[in-house]
Amino acid sequence: MLVFLVLASYKVVTVDAPLLRIGALTMAVVFGRVRYTLQRTRSGDAEAAAAERAGASGTAAIPLDRVGIVSGVTVRFTLDENLPHAAQPRLLALGWDVHDVYDEGFCGVVVTLFAVGRRSLALGMPPSDVTTRLNLYGLTRSELQQQLVHWGIKPVHAARLWKYLYIELVSSLDDMPELLPKLAVRLREEATLGVLPTALETASSDGFTRKYLLSLPDAERIETVLMRFTGRVTACVSSQVGCAMGCVFCATGQMGYTRHLTPGEIVAQVVHVARVLRHEAPRGSVKGAITRATRHALGTRLRNVVLMGMGEPLHNYDAVMHAVDIMLDQNGPSLAAERITLSTVGVVPGILRLAAEQRPIHLAVSLHAATQAERAALVPAARKWPLDELMAACRTYSEITGRRIFYEWTLIEGKNDSEEQARAVGELLRGLPAHVNLIPLNPTTGYDGAPTHSAAGNRFREILQQEYALPSTMRQRRGIDIAAGCGQLAVLAS
Ligand code: SF4
Repeated sequence: MLVFLVLASYKVVTVDAPLLRIGALTMAVVFGRVRYTLQRTRSGDAEAAAAERAGASGTAAIPLDRVGIVSGVTVRFTLDENLPHAAQPRLLALGWDVHDVYDEGFCGVVVTLFAVGRRSLALGMPPSDVTTRLNLYGLTRSELQQQLVHWGIKPVHAARLWKYLYIELVSSLDDMPELLPKLAVRLREEATLGVLPTALETASSDGFTRKYLLSLPDAERIETVLMRFTGRVTACVSSQVGCAMGCVFCATGQMGYTRHLTPGEIVAQVVHVARVLRHEAPRGSVKGAITRATRHALGTRLRNVVLMGMGEPLHNYDAVMHAVDIMLDQNGPSLAAERITLSTVGVVPGILRLAAEQRPIHLAVSLHAATQAERAALVPAARKWPLDELMAACRTYSEITGRRIFYEWTLIEGKNDSEEQARAVGELLRGLPAHVNLIPLNPTTGYDGAPTHSAAGNRFREILQQEYALPSTMRQRRGIDIAAGCGQLAVLAS
């Protein structure tokens, strides 16, 4: 193993030998400072694909502290076969920082050792942007103004461009006739609007839910859901391609992690839904006659965003918060902070950071079980951030922000829907400002659990309310027939 460490300091060593996987794991345990980067492969030529991705995204210069490497050697598993997906949670259980885990299959057929600082550093890391062009949806208004200054253009011209982006919701740079000509030229040369083309749109038989498969510039895909409720519309947006958290009942977790979304890709989903609503809105006789207030009343203006789509938002904290800042801009998307909800599986550092930064958005924590053992069986990330740490973080969050947390509980028949478990939740949340959202399990092909029966679900809720005075809601199940419900979003490798 020492030989490999030495070799790895100087050059890349690639060996086709499953045994080395065991060796590398041993090394990781012994040295305690080896990190695993799991990289998806499609063609079998992982290095080429990854280098291409890294090159295209310009991520080679990601600073070490962002990457989270302490020191030592990066061990990369090249994965192209079918080791059980459970391997990914095992890595979490071993205590590696979840930010180190990039996985879609985890086979371990090829083990590659890299010296830190070499090209492996960029593999699977969040791209600053997938193209080298400036993504306009990825800029806050002040960043856009600064960009104009950088181009030698007065920042005042950002206002018109901003209006095109978020008030008129144009879908092409060609639809901005009133821009300063110099700015229009710059945009055509150096920027992209960041619109995500729709690869597939599916509508639920419930008549209220639509799902959009959106294409990203690097050919990855994500899903975004539009949900209509009486008098309001909600967009459920993704924060990652796939997810590294591996919740056993979740289709996104079952597909594994590919990459973080950029701020622009997150905002683009919000704009996509807003544009759909705009196109479907009744038209006034005069341009602009349908006002914001009217659209509110008609339920044709996007008012609510939930970061509950594909991915763990707190795993992609910076990009998500950057996107939230853009969504909140009162001259732009103009979403109210109290109408944005971020759902986490329990990434403790992220919860504490949200609290410290006093982010005004709502927080939902996926609990699903009230004991560490039961929770770890459903949510592998619980081994990294145990229940007691999570609850301590939630308490801190509520103390600092003064806000209650929504606790999500997927009700699975015979697993977590008993009266005893309802009482365990009541005890766990006693004294905390909390609201429990109960969600009967939605089916996925990778998990054979069943949704709770309505009698058990109702009894669960009754106990929370009557014995613990805990407010709760039984979530409406929406879009199940098009796999648009909670935990059902997933995209097969294209
Ligand atoms: S439930 Fe959320 S955190 Fe868990 S695997 Fe699915 S997307 Fe990831």
